[in-house]
Amino acid sequence: MHRTYENEDLVVFWNSEKCRHAKECVHGSPDTFNPAKKPWIQLGRAENKEVWQAISKCPSSALSCIYRHGITVTMDAENCRCLAFDGDQQIGECEYDKAGGDFCIYHTAVREEYKGKGIARRLVYKVIEQAERECMNITATCSYAKKVLQEVIQ
Ligand code: SF4
Repeated sequence: MHRTYENEDLVVFWNSEKCRHAKECVHGSPDTFNPAKKPWIQLGRAENKEVWQAISKCPSSALSCIYRHGITVTMDAENCRCLAFDGDQQIGECEYDKAGGDFCIYHTAVREEYKGKGIARRLVYKVIEQAERECMNITATCSYAKKVLQEVIQ
């Protein structure tokens, strides 16, 4: 299972398939990472520094974290796409089709001036989440999305 969690400053990526249950995250920030709660990751209950440090100790890279840079990433499942916004300005998109019965990502792009902030990864990750919620497999013809899929789906 793949999920993203966000607060105003951070985006946390969670890949349950990589988790070795070493609980470094729980020990590092018990108010943030609590397997007894739903969702088990609750940002905003501890300082960002504490969360970041806890994630940096994850031995399996099941957890990773980037800055949010004020960019909102939102699914538009009706139109088979995920969009990134800076305020009300669209600055990126990840598009897929479901023609073959599975999700197939064919296009991912982020405006040149916004590159290097992890936005494309956030877009692809959200589409992976959506495919999982719809119990569909996911592939990609888009080379960037292919790379992310190889990295997160083993
Ligand atoms: S630190 Fe990483 S491997 Fe350990 S429980 Fe947390 S997510 Fe899983």
